[in-house]
Amino acid sequence: MGGPGSSPCASCKLLRRRCAKDCIFAPYFPPDDPHKFAIVHKVFGASNVSKMLQELPVHQRADAVNSLVFEANARVRDPVYGCVGAISYLQNQVSQLQMQLAVAQAEILCIQMQQEPNLHMMQMQMQMQDPLKQESLWT
Ligand SMILES: [Zn+2]
Repeated sequence: MGGPGSSPCASCKLLRRRCAKDCIFAPYFPPDDPHKFAIVHKVFGASNVSKMLQELPVHQRADAVNSLVFEANARVRDPVYGCVGAISYLQNQVSQLQMQLAVAQAEILCIQMQQEPNLHMMQMQMQMQDPLKQESLWT
């Protein structure tokens, strides 16, 4: 990448500089996807992105770039909340679904009680009549 004859990576193209053989951006910002670097540069700044990538081990850099691209896109779409907007939306959805699940589980329990009331009543009575448990209530 960046060798003689090959085109510079999207970052070097945008920054109008020579794409060196060991260009830190080249593996993650191919020339055929200029928007990917443009938006990350706009939101975070190329030198910050370069610093971040240098501090990371190589095997984590692709994930970091994906995250930066996601966050940059979210920031452009929602300048105030950025990706926090998406996170809190999803968290709300999770708690709503947890509530729905709890309601459904309670309904299942009610239906089971209606279908086999004797069985459940017996279980409840056995628990109440357990002498050890009764004793522990008073001691
Ligand atoms: Zn480059």
